[in-house]
Amino acid sequence: MKPAHISLANLPTKIEKLASSPGGVELYIKRDDQTGSEYAGNKIRKLEFALAEALDTKCDTVITCGGIQSNHCRATAAACIRLGLQCILLLKSDEDLPKDGNYLMDALFGAEVRYVPSEVYKNRLAEHCEEVSKEVAQEGHKAYIIPIGASNAIGSWGYFQAFEEILRQEEKMQIEFDTIAVTVGSGGTYAGLCLANAAHGYKKNVVGIPIANDAEYFQGVVEKIAETFVTMAQDLPPLDPSAIHLIDGFAGRGYALNVPEEMRFIQDFARTEGIILDPVYTGKAMRGLFASLNDGHPLLKNAKKILFIHTGGLYGVFPKRDEFEW
Ligand SMILES: *Cc1c(COP(=O)(O)O)cnc(C)c1O
Repeated sequence: MKPAHISLANLPTKIEKLASSPGGVELYIKRDDQTGSEYAGNKIRKLEFALAEALDTKCDTVITCGGIQSNHCRATAAACIRLGLQCILLLKSDEDLPKDGNYLMDALFGAEVRYVPSEVYKNRLAEHCEEVSKEVAQEGHKAYIIPIGASNAIGSWGYFQAFEEILRQEEKMQIEFDTIAVTVGSGGTYAGLCLANAAHGYKKNVVGIPIANDAEYFQGVVEKIAETFVTMAQDLPPLDPSAIHLIDGFAGRGYALNVPEEMRFIQDFARTEGIILDPVYTGKAMRGLFASLNDGHPLLKNAKKILFIHTGGLYGVFPKRDEFEW
């Protein structure tokens, strides 16, 4: 059973054909970077479900966490204002940083930002969130904690629903995508797509490209989200672990770190397609998709019509301005 959700995003998002055709495929892009301006990106689809649960459970404060340039935190801050919720953002940083990109927007929204030292963020983030939640309770309020990227079972419903949106668009457009490709950052987007694919009979190849960590790590993450998801939903088939298709090799230097080739790819893509990818997520993943198609990656050997989901991240280009070469 689908849980309750609130409508926040601009949906359905457009599907457009790209000029590029790496490896000779037809490549399409779904513009989830256009789910809104303040809301832009994939996180708002997850927040439609997570924040509905926050309201249903009578919470008045939301606590969530992320990197300093977290798209998820920025979208959460914006949505909280619309819904009359207080927002506390726990952002990973060991130093005071200039307000730029998403962090500038967090500040504009008046979210309460607290820096979390990287040691705490790495080793005991969940406990830290609980401590902040207790503090909120002592002040007479009730907090709802959203984990990194809203990548839990409730958040993944956002992309279960997006998959069904794609099925409706296919019918309208008289087209059938054999492959859906998406960036994997914390795993919830990919998990939601896989679960919907399972519910609809595994008719598509759903491919994820991790931009931090590796395929083995995310295999575990996705299986775990799927298990909880299926238990909660009660009326869905379990996810076959062999349907989890992750392509390794494009995480580069790690989360939010880039090499010049990635920045160059983003520039080339912008000049070919008129679309901006972001350095942290979609730039790495699209580069990985191009390379995998050109090299005949086994997970893409039957791919002819591919839909890449542009999950957003535009504001992340601004703090990276000095990494582009002109
Ligand atoms: C968070 C994010 C992703 C990754 O989504 P997950 O569900 O965390 O795997 C991809 N692209 C952008 C722009 C994001 O902000």
